[in-house]
Amino acid sequence: MHMQVPGEAEILALWERGLARHPIDRALLLYAWARPDLPSSSFPDLPLGAINRVLLRLRETCFGPRIIACIDCEHCGTRMEVALYTGQLLAATNEDETSSDFKVTPAEFEVSSLRFRVPCSRDLAAVSGEQDINAAAVKLLERCCLDRPEKIDAGFFANMLAEAEAAMEELDPAAEINLSLSCEDCGHSWLANFNIGTLLWDEIDVRARALLAEVHSLAQAYGWTEPEIFALSPQRRAAYLDMVGV
Ligand SMILES: [Zn+2]
Repeated sequence: MHMQVPGEAEILALWERGLARHPIDRALLLYAWARPDLPSSSFPDLPLGAINRVLLRLRETCFGPRIIACIDCEHCGTRMEVALYTGQLLAATNEDETSSDFKVTPAEFEVSSLRFRVPCSRDLAAVSGEQDINAAAVKLLERCCLDRPEKIDAGFFANMLAEAEAAMEELDPAAEINLSLSCEDCGHSWLANFNIGTLLWDEIDVRARALLAEVHSLAQAYGWTEPEIFALSPQRRAAYLDMVGV
């Protein structure tokens, strides 16, 4: 799969479109940018892991393979910097290089003789208003049940949650990326969730605001328009910014 590096004007356009959106929609927006060859109407139904794998590659294309994540220890609060590599994260999701990221039919599995599919962005969005993590997980599972029995007791889906989550992880390992961390200060070990969609959006946000600041300084000093400023080579732009005193 060939992925293009977004130009500066494209970064700004992406940022502008994603600014007011929910993080789930931002991830889909970035995915759509990376896969212009695919029909975007199907993106909300794609397995979450398919989205995450493409976003990891897009991150590598835009900002390189090395990610420095700042994470606070869950126990003592000490901030630590963790170096991650997109290649390592992709390898940990058992990605087969030849496999397609575009799976029309989400993988299915069975628990207690009921069929389920792995979750997609539409499911995540549907449970995103739920405050309780466990209740959200049960709701998500209920949505993914393909042959829901007519009568169910309270706790029906909650009882099969652990087994279903294990099956989901096996079928779509990139859906949720967890980092195994250990604090050097207090020795506490835990699993931290790593969300590539959020990280990539934050980086695009920083880049877009830096670009706006550059355009602002040069437009103010020379009266140039945004396209004129973007058309300057990086060397010339840096030289002018230097003269303006930025
Ligand atoms: Zn600690």
